[in-house]
Amino acid sequence: MTRLLDELKVEPGSSPQLGSRDPGARLGAADKTEGLERLAQLVERLAVLHNRLFAEASRSVLLVLQGMDTAGKDGTIRSVFTGVNPQGCRVKSFKAPTETELAHDYLWRIHSECPARGEIVIFDRSHYEDVVAVRVRKLAGKKVWQRRYEHIRGFERMLTDEGTSVVKVFLHVSKDEQRARLQERLENPEKRWKFRTGDLEDRALWDEFRPAYEDTLRETSTDWAPWYVVPADHNWSRNLLVAEILVGALEQLDPKLPEPQAGVESMQIA
Ligand code: AMP
Ligand code: MG
Repeated sequence: MTRLLDELKVEPGSSPQLGSRDPGARLGAADKTEGLERLAQLVERLAVLHNRLFAEASRSVLLVLQGMDTAGKDGTIRSVFTGVNPQGCRVKSFKAPTETELAHDYLWRIHSECPARGEIVIFDRSHYEDVVAVRVRKLAGKKVWQRRYEHIRGFERMLTDEGTSVVKVFLHVSKDEQRARLQERLENPEKRWKFRTGDLEDRALWDEFRPAYEDTLRETSTDWAPWYVVPADHNWSRNLLVAEILVGALEQLDPKLPEPQAGVESMQIA
């Protein structure tokens, strides 16, 4: 497993080479049945580790999810976090910045949503929109978005130094699979609400998003906060791999339950 995770990782200083990574790869288990069994185990393990992290209340975890529309950020969150106690876990979705947010620096809204000690916070989009979407949609000039790589490396370094593990996952979906998923959104009445015509504008910019992500992942995969590229055309494999990455990070933290009060282990309640 460690070897697989190493393959998904973008080595600091190197290019992610998205073109040579197959979004359709089914990794992590021999087949879907085995994959779902393994995921169920990881979901249970995540609940235990999260409980310890929460009880320890000294460190925290930030999971950053990025990807093109339909890459499956929502689905990943739903499936990986099903067993996690909502107390001590939070999802934050970042949309286009509001007027108030735009009146501040781009990390202002991000920093205020970072996890408190004991918490896991999931970012559904993040400060990475400020180097990717902003670049592709030309919301700021090159001079502005380019210097942000350095800010972001420093910001994540600070978070790490102060006790937050930063786990970053790029959900890598193919253009073909995106077409199928957008079509499915249109046709399925339960999913139609998710469809935005703006999604088509981003889809038309696919060839611009690609180099923007390529540069961003290379510039911001660091020893303290590396990127993982997860193939996202198959939901079961995508969910399984994100769970592996997250549980791996928590195992490494090895959170400890606080010591019980002295003498309580032999007490009998009358
Ligand atoms: P969704 O996640 O599909 O609900 O869409 C949210 C939209 O907000 C996406 O189109 C993002 O690109 C956009 N967005 C999020 N953060 C920013 C940002 N900092 N600057 C520009 N657009 C953003
Ligand atoms: Mg969307």
